[in-house]
Amino acid sequence: MNLYEKKEDCCGCSACADICPVGAIRTVMDEEGFRYPQVDEEKCVNCGQCLQVCPIKRAEPGRGENLYFGAQAIDETLRGASSSGGMFPVLAEYVFQRQGVVYGAAFNEKMEVAHREAHNPKELEALKKTKYVQSNPEGTYRSIQAHLKEDRWVLFCGTPCQARGLRLYLKRPYPKLIVADLVCYGAPSPGVWASYVRYLERKSGGKMTQFYFRDKRNKDNGHTCAYVAGGRERTHSLYGDMYCRMYFANYIIRPSCHACQYCTVDRDSDFTIGDFWGIEKVRPDMEDGMGTSVVILHTNEAREIWEQVKGNLRWFACGEEDMLQPRLTGPTEAAGGRKRFQSLYRAFPFPIFRFIFIGMMSFKTLWRSVVKR
Ligand SMILES: Cc1cc2nc3c(=O)[nH]c(=O)nc-3n(C[C@H](O)[C@H](O)[C@H](O)COP(=O)(O)OP(=O)(O)OC[C@H]3O[C@@H](n4cnc5c(N)ncnc54)[C@H](O)[C@@H]3O)c2cc1C
Ligand code: SF4
Ligand code: SF4
Ligand code: SF4
Repeated sequence: MNLYEKKEDCCGCSACADICPVGAIRTVMDEEGFRYPQVDEEKCVNCGQCLQVCPIKRAEPGRGENLYFGAQAIDETLRGASSSGGMFPVLAEYVFQRQGVVYGAAFNEKMEVAHREAHNPKELEALKKTKYVQSNPEGTYRSIQAHLKEDRWVLFCGTPCQARGLRLYLKRPYPKLIVADLVCYGAPSPGVWASYVRYLERKSGGKMTQFYFRDKRNKDNGHTCAYVAGGRERTHSLYGDMYCRMYFANYIIRPSCHACQYCTVDRDSDFTIGDFWGIEKVRPDMEDGMGTSVVILHTNEAREIWEQVKGNLRWFACGEEDMLQPRLTGPTEAAGGRKRFQSLYRAFPFPIFRFIFIGMMSFKTLWRSVVKR
């Protein structure tokens, strides 16, 4: 059985692996470092459930009845420990007050990113903050369904394709489920990230234990990376970080992201959350370098919850045109030269490849300046 024809047709959400009743699907990393599902034909009983939960085959536009807001958590410890304005931990608090469970992406001890659950604010710490690495959600959908069947509140936060995979997996609405998806630039390669971690560990002379892509201590809206390796903390600019440069230059993004159907304001989630781009123009009085969330409410359930959490936020309502940003109007374009990048990445060890990458970027800058003239 073929789950996808070309790589663009699989976002790696793993919903198919979770739904398979006989455990016939496992995910395997490809040469670009992304996981793809593989079917064991001997185990497969041709039930077709894996095709029914696929968010690429069954993408669905939202209802188009959105409300738009800018928001900052009033509790500065929540905002400071998050990447944008702290909307995610505010929603998590709402769920914890109801003895619920929160799902989000966290680093494990090998510095891989995977979804996991949190039952209290202490466990939530690992789920906070953006990780620019595709998260592995395997097992999450099944575990969420089990909690919902126990009549517990559940908050899931992830990429829009994961959120849609969850809705399809569950098949029916659950009144105590809150789905928050992210404005999404694209999923970067876990394989390239692993090479980068090994490189930084060798350079630092010890194991990496933390990596913050969006540290806010400089009050620069989280444009600083901070990591701890070999017992020592180091910081550098987000745009100076080698791995982030590869990501933002669009070399290490999953092929499906360049054809993504979820880069729109209309989604099948309750909330969409992201960075409020252009806050300095819309509400200059709120721009303090500590981050503002853009919040889109899609459902009546989200409107009801908003009424209950907005007392914990500094917020304002706005129009669609005030908060639009590129990833709400269309997918990220693949870099010209992505294929060349990938074959060079495979051919050389990372410490050497990084010099090749610096050369590629310098050539690009030079070429652009020549063309401009
Ligand atoms: C890969 C990626 C690309 C993004 N691109 C954009 C963008 O182009 N524009 C924009 O406005 N916002 C983007 N965001 C969202 C933004 O960075 C913040 O994550 C979001 O605004 C939530 O911030 P917060 O302050 O509310 O909470 P935070 O405490 O920062 O919570 C972050 C939430 O995101 C989840 N999360 C973190 N990493 C991942 C991951 N790898 N996969 C799935 N879920 C994850 C966490 O579990 C948590 O629920 C992106 C996020 C990711 C992960
Ligand atoms: S058709 Fe059914 S048994 Fe076969 S891989 Fe898909 S979900 Fe599993
Ligand atoms: S369900 Fe998800 S992982 Fe499975 S084929 Fe579809 S997109 Fe890929
Ligand atoms: S860009 Fe689209 S396909 Fe890629 S991770 Fe985000 S939602 Fe999924």
